[in-house]
Amino acid sequence: MKFENLKRVDNEVYETLVKEYERQERNIELIASENIVSEAVMETMGSYFTNKYAEGYPDKRYYGGCQFVDEMESIAIKRLKKIFGADHANVQPHSGSQANQAVYLAMLNYGDKVLGMDLSQGGHLTHGSPVNISGINYNFIAYGVNPETETIDYDKLREIAISEKPKLIVAGASAYPREIDFKRISEIAKEIGAYFMVDMAHIAGLVAAGLHNNPCECADFVTSTTHKTLRGPRGGIILCKEEYAKKIDKAIFPGIQGGPLEHIIASKAVCFKEALEEDFKEYQKQVVKNAAVLADELKKRGFDLVSGGTDNHLILVNLVSKNMSGREAETLLDEAYITVNKNSIPFDKASFVETSGIRIGTPAVTTRGMVEEDMIKIAEAIDLVVTHRDIKNAQNIVIELTGKYPLNYNFEK
Ligand SMILES: *Cc1c(COP(=O)(O)O)cnc(C)c1O
Repeated sequence: MKFENLKRVDNEVYETLVKEYERQERNIELIASENIVSEAVMETMGSYFTNKYAEGYPDKRYYGGCQFVDEMESIAIKRLKKIFGADHANVQPHSGSQANQAVYLAMLNYGDKVLGMDLSQGGHLTHGSPVNISGINYNFIAYGVNPETETIDYDKLREIAISEKPKLIVAGASAYPREIDFKRISEIAKEIGAYFMVDMAHIAGLVAAGLHNNPCECADFVTSTTHKTLRGPRGGIILCKEEYAKKIDKAIFPGIQGGPLEHIIASKAVCFKEALEEDFKEYQKQVVKNAAVLADELKKRGFDLVSGGTDNHLILVNLVSKNMSGREAETLLDEAYITVNKNSIPFDKASFVETSGIRIGTPAVTTRGMVEEDMIKIAEAIDLVVTHRDIKNAQNIVIELTGKYPLNYNFEK
């Protein structure tokens, strides 16, 4: 991509784009929720579909001239249903948060009780945080992890569900390194007559590749982002059983959104095509392999990992024994060109601002082409920074690695 028009029309924004590109090129991206999209996905986002208003759904629009967006959006829907084996798909949510909000709007009344994963133990902002619309409009209560194993305590979850009788149970997390037993939670929901929603934002790519049990087999609603492991444009999706299709569609439009972002939906369609290909399975397998190797290499260097390791694409590092806060680790690693985010660990004694952990994920570095041997180098670099406060030598490792695996974009500055 050239961006020659942007450069001519608005050099101020162009300069920020160049700097951001150079940052992405130079840094090792270990933020577990980020990825690097293909040029086809990228190109489609900036395409002519952005000019079109298309409130409504294919063949039921409130605007004329929608023949071709209808055709395109129907392709996106068909592919998405195929990937996950879902009855019904809505590809219009602007984000993962909007997807969750739509399910709540469709199925709950103001003040209804919902049981979700504790935010300080891996749950997401939209699973009942008091500052989020989910926590403002609904009465969220929480389940969490066992303090010993640091994995979800399903027996306790069941106890809470039986005594509290929530109308909806929400599963899914932003910082949970283990496979979640969706089937087991669905049985608990059935037992108490609650709806069951899975937010698979982080693991959607793994599910698509068959590397994580598929929540569409047991949940009433499945929401996701498209930009994390699924490696598409920033956006959201909702999958559900046929009986809820009308309610869900109505909740997205006209419930919480107006005109859909058809250029993003087109890009989602491209991402879904990529996700159906054999390459994508290989990619996801490598993501999981890389995370496992990185986890082992960190453990060898004396790092404590929440739950002792990982089954998926992410690792939660407990830094208490390293005498460094999550906030400080994030800052120092950034100086060494390694991007991570600070993260609370279960039963964290530090504040949300300070935290006692960092979250590390392998989706982006794996897209860049990195494999097991590169994970050993990354562990070495993290150890240099966190254990020895040696930024310089860590930087050298990073520069060598990112030099070996350039970004897959043809950006002509
Ligand atoms: C990232 C994430 C979301 C929100 O996605 P946005 O697109 O940032 O709104 C929702 N749920 C979970 C579990 C997530 O990890």
